Amino acid sequence: MIKLEKVTKEFASEAGKFTALKPNDIHIRKGEFIAIMGPSGSGKSTLLQLIGGLDLPSSGSITVDGVKLNDLNEKERTLFRRTKVGFVFQNYQLLPMMTVAENVALSLAANKTPKAEMNSRVISLLQDVNLEDKQRNFPSQLSGGQQQRVAIARALAMKPRLILADEPTGNLDRKNGEDVLQLLSRLNKEEQMTIVMVTHDRQAAKKADRIILIRDGEVVQGGVEGEDLL
Ligand code: ADP
Ligand code: MG
Repeated sequence: MIKLEKVTKEFASEAGKFTALKPNDIHIRKGEFIAIMGPSGSGKSTLLQLIGGLDLPSSGSITVDGVKLNDLNEKERTLFRRTKVGFVFQNYQLLPMMTVAENVALSLAANKTPKAEMNSRVISLLQDVNLEDKQRNFPSQLSGGQQQRVAIARALAMKPRLILADEPTGNLDRKNGEDVLQLLSRLNKEEQMTIVMVTHDRQAAKKADRIILIRDGEVVQGGVEGEDLL
């Protein structure tokens, strides 16, 4: 599903170039549930952004679901992001002035879902995350865990085969965090979705098939199956 070969990422800084990712190889199979762990600033989010086509590597090649991201032009990369990847972030990124249903509908509309199908698709997505009774509520009326589940429903709008989650339980208490993890785990097991989740939480990482450990921009463990020593 995901193959990174000698991928590096540099950012320009006042001091010159800053290397956020050193040459890394990562292989992830279809249907794997991966946890990425490592200290703050080690390059976890940068890695996720490269896999999701939000940014391009400075060198090396990235292939996701058979698509070599390096070869895509800007327009093709946008299409890739919209259709192949579901993004979930720590701070949910829901629109506060829109209801739960409207937040999900917006994502469906952006992806040209026919009007006639809109309502039933919104309800079906909210059922998937067990929130159909909250469709007329605003995000502020929901718990953090419920808001994150709305964000996941929105990420599922395009039926992606890959979910990239950046600290999805980072703002949640244990109970809400567990609900969100259980949902991700179910999507992985029942829908065979590939999930790559950045987390600081060891309990959360235990739900994964494999832990990729990253330090100072370098994968130090678990980048390729079988190298996971945990
Ligand atoms: P993590 O998610 O592991 O905390 P990040 O991937 O966000 O780490 O960041 C890795 C390093 O790259 C950090 O030192 C960060 O400051 C730097 N960095 C990330 N994004 C940018 C950017 N757009 N411009 C410059 N530096 C960045
Ligand atoms: Mg981060």
